[in-house]
Amino acid sequence: MKKVISITLILAILLMIVAYVANQDVVETPLEEVEVHETEVLVQGQDHKDDENNISVEESSDLIVRAAPQGVHTTLPALWLNLETPWDEENFADVAVPLYLSDDTPYGALAIQHIQYMNDNLYGRKPFSYREKEAATWLVETLLAMGHPWENICVQEFPVDHQGRWNTLMNSSGFRSDFAFRYTTQLSQNIVLTIPGQSERKIIVGAHYDSYPTPGASDNASGVGLLLESAQRMQYVDHYYTIVYVFFGAEEVGLQGSLYFADNLTEEQSDQIVMMINADVLFEGPYLFYSATYNDNYQAGSNALTRQVDDIADSLDLGLIPYPEVAFVVSTDHQPFLMRGYTIVNLMGLYRVNYPHVVGIFRMGEDVFLGRVLHSQNDCFHIIEERWPGKIETNMNVFSIFLEEMLLMDSD
Ligand SMILES: [Zn+2]
Repeated sequence: MKKVISITLILAILLMIVAYVANQDVVETPLEEVEVHETEVLVQGQDHKDDENNISVEESSDLIVRAAPQGVHTTLPALWLNLETPWDEENFADVAVPLYLSDDTPYGALAIQHIQYMNDNLYGRKPFSYREKEAATWLVETLLAMGHPWENICVQEFPVDHQGRWNTLMNSSGFRSDFAFRYTTQLSQNIVLTIPGQSERKIIVGAHYDSYPTPGASDNASGVGLLLESAQRMQYVDHYYTIVYVFFGAEEVGLQGSLYFADNLTEEQSDQIVMMINADVLFEGPYLFYSATYNDNYQAGSNALTRQVDDIADSLDLGLIPYPEVAFVVSTDHQPFLMRGYTIVNLMGLYRVNYPHVVGIFRMGEDVFLGRVLHSQNDCFHIIEERWPGKIETNMNVFSIFLEEMLLMDSD
């Protein structure tokens, strides 16, 4: 009897935790004393790749933000290529020059410049807000500046989803906009870039660019910076799979961008997806986690692809920690793909407590960092950098190398 009661109690507690976690961007950690161990992470830079160093060299200059194009209105259900939108090419005729990239540019260095830019100039990228649209415009501009042709860039717009999302948006004080929301006409957007490979089969690489009303450095300029750097580098590197970078909008009010993207894939597009890699919250803490998995009846499953990813992480020896179970408790843009049967890899830089199957943001304070970072004003590049010098550099370096190695995988 005692046993039954304790099992019931444990189940009830587990259920409460699951219900709570379902509404969080990342799982909270219980407040308890734990020892904090810094991971030993090597910074590996220019020596990483010494093959055909045919990366182009351009003069660098500051990027310029321009206003969003006029006349934006709802589009039909989207395709990721050749979508007709009012985001006309002519609105982007006068683009900025790309960040400086040479053979010697350390991995992560470009990402950090993008993160800092977003932190300082595009903070408070609230879903469906004008600032979010500004960030989207900047993304398109930045991709064009790198030399990606207009034809490979698609803006996938979507309105507020009336299936409950509308209420989330209107009732959550954190997201109330500075102007009235227009139900069904107010848009967010996914920015999609395709870099063709030898194969038609595709790896989706995603990161959301919206944020709480904060600078949103870790959540999630970090993921955006990672993708932007990758999109610049991968132009000059032979790769087997076609790479589809997706910068998701409106993640913070219920994964709206990634849900919309996943729901609007045609059967053919869906069949072409090899796996989905997501980056969200990359320097919330010292532990570099990745979850390579698929949904095996709500358990972490392994297959040839996840084992290949594990081998890559292992051979890099940069402190990457495999933690497939995390993918099932963390709510970010890999979820719609995980739950639709795709193999996913989710990247996160988190604090960890010594508590089985619990991964968290750090909130233990003094020794490590300011209390809570995620979704707070502490999620600021300068605060993080001052409090924890070098952490951003280390994490972005390792994740950049890891991402590139995954994108260079060459067979099924
Ligand atoms: Zn996030």
